[in-house]
Amino acid sequence: MDYTIFAVAVFVVALLVFGGVVLIRPRRPGAGKEEAPPVEEGGTTTAAPEAAEDEGERSGAATAEPEALPEKAAEAPAAPSIETPPPSAGRLVRLRARLARSQSTLGKGLLNILSSDTLDDDAWEEIEDTLITADVGVTSASQIVEGLRTKVKVLGTRSPDEVRAMLREELLGHIGADMDRTVHTGPHQGRPGVVMVVGVNGTGKTTTTGKLARVLVGDGKKVVLGAADTFRAAAADQLETWGSRVGAPVVRKDEGADPASVAFDAVARGVEEGADSVIVDTAGRLHTKTGLMDELGKVKRVVEKKSQVDDVLLVLDATTGQNGLRQARVFAEVVDVSGIVLTKLDGTAKGGIIIQVQRELGVPVKLVGLGEGPDDLAPFDPEEFVDALLEE
Ligand code: GDP
Repeated sequence: MDYTIFAVAVFVVALLVFGGVVLIRPRRPGAGKEEAPPVEEGGTTTAAPEAAEDEGERSGAATAEPEALPEKAAEAPAAPSIETPPPSAGRLVRLRARLARSQSTLGKGLLNILSSDTLDDDAWEEIEDTLITADVGVTSASQIVEGLRTKVKVLGTRSPDEVRAMLREELLGHIGADMDRTVHTGPHQGRPGVVMVVGVNGTGKTTTTGKLARVLVGDGKKVVLGAADTFRAAAADQLETWGSRVGAPVVRKDEGADPASVAFDAVARGVEEGADSVIVDTAGRLHTKTGLMDELGKVKRVVEKKSQVDDVLLVLDATTGQNGLRQARVFAEVVDVSGIVLTKLDGTAKGGIIIQVQRELGVPVKLVGLGEGPDDLAPFDPEEFVDALLEE
């Protein structure tokens, strides 16, 4: 009897010991981590409620409504969708209403005076003043007046259509309908086209770089962006946002890094990845002319170790008038500007600045900015511009 009790006791103890081992083992996942389980459990508890909540939401959703899947999809952030911007062709036509709205004062003013029965000296002076107010520039304004006077003499009586046609022809002659306004973004000899964007801060340089990337992507091009404005951390962030929206990689470095090295890396990446175009946004601090010259000159020289720079676009804010022109002149002296981007043309009636800036710098306006929207940048077309100006 005693023996049986002893045997049962041994069996029970053995069972307890064995059971204990089996039960304890799974709770010891890490060797030498006596404290680990509670920590791990704690760790899991931070994640667990979320998981539990998710589970709860999911199962709740599953019972409350059958739409459980969208909840699950929201768990993992969806890859940002890449936008497909509209192509460059027809952009100015699309933005024509905006152009007509902002420039109609100039067009209507000129048409009204020219349509009056008698054109005396006062009237011609008024025409000249209207042109100067629209930032056409004194020299061009007087030349346009001369041209119009000759045409009026030849015409004699003038119908409204004839007045319009004559003004159209005169303005087009001064804007330069035949200038080459191509932005050289295309690849050559197995290397991407390289565009440098320069200009004073605030003119819309970074925005233009981003918008230009969209124009190119819209035209089916592969683009790499270089954030060489390293003096403003926000500029690189801004550019990154533009790039990510259209799937264009942005090469950037820390704030204060050498702009030339960023530009070089961007072009190197463009070459490596077989990109069609590399667009480099530069810093626009007008500290000293020498400083600016050194900086932009270096960026260009360093980039040219990799690939030639095909276009240097100077961004000019159309609303800044003579002050903007003065700054533009400084830039044109330190780098070989090959094209002008006139921004904020939607916010001013002074579209005449196209004539003045081309005359002063001897380079064509290639692109115009007509708003803050991502696709409000268009290749400049003189005929579209003048037609919008003279729209009834
Ligand atoms: P940056 O300092 O030269 O790089 O200038 P940003 O690109 O940061 O632009 C300065 C401001 O100008 C921003 O608020 C832009 O949205 C605005 N901007 C740029 N281009 C245009 C344009 O064509 N029209 C209007 N209305 N605003 C513009």
